[in-house]
Amino acid sequence: MNLRALAGVGVVDAPLTWSSYGPGIRQHAHEDQCAVSQVIGNTVAWLTVRGVVEEALGSVVAPPVPSVIWVSEPDSFSDVVGFWNARALVATAASGSVGAVTAILLPPDVSGWLDLAEMLKLRFRARYQRPRPDAFIFSHTVPQAGLRAIAAQLNLTEVDPPVTQEHAAPGFLDTEPDPLASSTAVVGLDPTPWYCYPRRYGRATRELVQVFSGRTIIRAASPVPFRLGTGGWVKVSLSGLRALAAPRRATVAQLFAPDAWFSGDRLSLKRATMNTYEIAVTIPEPAATLTAALRDAGVTFTLSDKGKYAQALLARAPDLEDLVRRPGALEVMTDLTRKRTDRFKTDLEDLLGDKSGDTSLVDDILALARETVPLPHQAVAELPKHGLAAGDIADVLEQLVALGLCSRGFSIDCAECQMESYIEHSAVTPQATCPGCGAAGAYRAAANKPAGPVVRYRLNSLLDRASDNGAPPHILGMACLRQHAAGRPLYILPGALLSDGNTDLGEVDLLGYLAEHLIAGEVKTSPEDFTEDQIKKDLSLAARIGADIYVMVAVHPLTEGQKDMAASLATAQGCQLLTFSGGTARPA
Ligand SMILES: [Zn+2]
Repeated sequence: MNLRALAGVGVVDAPLTWSSYGPGIRQHAHEDQCAVSQVIGNTVAWLTVRGVVEEALGSVVAPPVPSVIWVSEPDSFSDVVGFWNARALVATAASGSVGAVTAILLPPDVSGWLDLAEMLKLRFRARYQRPRPDAFIFSHTVPQAGLRAIAAQLNLTEVDPPVTQEHAAPGFLDTEPDPLASSTAVVGLDPTPWYCYPRRYGRATRELVQVFSGRTIIRAASPVPFRLGTGGWVKVSLSGLRALAAPRRATVAQLFAPDAWFSGDRLSLKRATMNTYEIAVTIPEPAATLTAALRDAGVTFTLSDKGKYAQALLARAPDLEDLVRRPGALEVMTDLTRKRTDRFKTDLEDLLGDKSGDTSLVDDILALARETVPLPHQAVAELPKHGLAAGDIADVLEQLVALGLCSRGFSIDCAECQMESYIEHSAVTPQATCPGCGAAGAYRAAANKPAGPVVRYRLNSLLDRASDNGAPPHILGMACLRQHAAGRPLYILPGALLSDGNTDLGEVDLLGYLAEHLIAGEVKTSPEDFTEDQIKKDLSLAARIGADIYVMVAVHPLTEGQKDMAASLATAQGCQLLTFSGGTARPA
């Protein structure tokens, strides 16, 4: 027996019983029997390939690729190796179906094998999305004239391929729209490079799985039957679980199972071959997922002050996310926030004798000083308008009251002690009494048109401090991302300080993940603060943690120029840009 015949050996006599009884291999098959068996796919190599299903990456269906007709002298080593490699590449495309790609090794003269041409014709016509050409005829050793003779013996019309470079993808080839058109072949072009498209292998099964927080056992029958006892390992991959939509980091995969890794959109594990798999996975908490994703980049984080305030607000009033997206809501909150007075600041700077240097001390003192100022309480009519109707301002305030972040009350101007006091509605008595000195007084009317006491609003101390720290715009950022996520898994912290060991790396205003994408974001009230330097600084921090998305949130509209600049800087480091500002952040 020669090498060429060896390459096609292992003709299986009873292919249907193969998986139960194992192969019945014919020991001394004729070369023409070998060829026929290769065409109809009952050789050992073809039958084992049926346990494998190929999926082209990015598409469910493999591109239509031509069949391989490889021609070899009896003992041409290079042809036998070339054929085996080409067959390995085509064998899994639509394996097991009538449209399976044919790969066949032939001697240079098949003139006596009358059935072969007819069999090939039927195979070619059975393919849905019939490639053009139907086949490549190739050999490392048999000359072009010999290959043309084979084409003639197999009734194949020689055609030129649309492109001839060897590393073109299969999509560069034509398809034949007419299923009954005569069979065609390209002669003398190595077929192998045409089959080198990205793909993955495996056979899938579907199970309905109830997922528990913590540990979940997934049981599934193996889609590939194994004769047990033969041993071996397989890659088992899971997909489709919502909880698997997490940043694709090695450290994140290990949260699901200690030996797991991500490959593509799947969680993969190495397991001994089994006919039923029991896979224990732990569904991690979102916070643990984020921590692990950053640990992958050697970064740890803690919540920033803004982050703590924003989280505390949302824990108290989750619906604040909706309210901050209303035009004017942030402005109304700011108007009711205790002020750090500019005059006091100037005096303080003079006192400290340094106007140009580090202002953090001044800021600290100012923050302390504002705490001694009583919380402002104002009537709707007295608040700045920001282009809003009084009714809209009242509506925002009433929603804050409903959220428990603001109270209603009256105020008393005391004629005796000269103090002005706020009386929450629950403490309002029929007779107005100054809480400072106990003198009788009157509830205040509106300044511009006095007509009896008016309702005043006062933020509670949490919202006041959070607003003074600039936390509400971070909540706006979270709200924008939640809408963008459209139900996909989203976990966002409203402000974090990043560090690498003992080194502070800086602060991000939004940190989290949207499905498999790690997010770092910056939030500004005024868009002018997004300078090129600021964006570069943000992006370098985003790169440090390996963020996939950089988010810019501005309360007022960013310019197209700013967005373009940010987009090109982000793209240059392989990061996606998301912007929310003006009407996209706060739809009217
Ligand atoms: Zn008084």
